[in-house]
Amino acid sequence: MTYQFECERGNCQFLVRSSSSEEVKQLVRAHARTVHGGRIDPVDIERGMERIETA
Ligand SMILES: [Zn+2]
Repeated sequence: MTYQFECERGNCQFLVRSSSSEEVKQLVRAHARTVHGGRIDPVDIERGMERIETA
């Protein structure tokens, strides 16, 4: 299972993909903090995270 998150703020091109959902959440929080200068609601991370079936 692969987890993916695409940032949808403005025209941000950030995309993170990992086999660990915890790692995705961690990277998304770090991204929001460093690039957007703020925090992201955990609910928004859950909502934006996609699960991709990998062969
Ligand atoms: Zn972003």
